[in-house]
Order: sequence, then structure tokens, then C-alpha cells
Amino acid sequence: MSSTDSERTSRREDSGEITLAEFQNLIREMYYEKDIARGIDGTFMWLVEEIGELASSLRGGSREEQCEEFADVFAWLTTIANIAGVDLSTAIRDKYGSGCPGCGSLICSCRDAEKP
Ligand SMILES: [Zn+2]
Repeated sequence: MSSTDSERTSRREDSGEITLAEFQNLIREMYYEKDIARGIDGTFMWLVEEIGELASSLRGGSREEQCEEFADVFAWLTTIANIAGVDLSTAIRDKYGSGCPGCGSLICSCRDAEKP
């Protein structure tokens, strides 16, 4: 395959960067029909399973396995946001973009016993 062919078949320029909004769109394009058919409950089970796999990889997995499990957890979380119609980029910006939602500071000053 020539580089021109591989550029044509590539989903996006491989700049090494992907925004949250781009990732959510990518997940939507790849899986939306399947995700809607599975629904939130079934997809949530996949998320929980992947969280378990992330925990296992953090305890004894290789760096490569850990990276893959972080990606899987994030992909399934993003999938649920797509099914629920939540724009993750907006949600995260609104809640965390101006600092800690608990104390409002960019460096959290909530007491340790509090969940920020
Ligand atoms: Zn705080």
C-alpha cells in the first residue's frame, strides 16, 4: 500500500493528538448502532468489566496492558455518554474547567475527608 493509499484509508491524520470531542465522535461513528441496540444497562456492565481489567493490569500487568485497559475503560465510558446523549467535552468543561467543583480552586483545598 502506498502512503497515499494509507492516507485515504486512515480515519484521521495521525498527529498524535486527539481531542475528547474527536474521540467521542470516533466512538459514535464506529459503534453507535450497536451501542443503541445494547443499551445503557448492558454497556454499563462492559464498563464495569473493563474497570476490573484495569485494576488487574495496574496490579500486575505490563505498561502496554495498562495503557490498553485505560483506553478500554475510557472508550466504554464514552460509549455510555453517546447512548445517554451526553457531550463529554462540555460536561467535563462545565464541571472541572474552572477548578475543583468542591472548593472552586485550581489547586484543590477541600479537606481530605471530603470528596471533591
Ligand atoms: Zn477542592
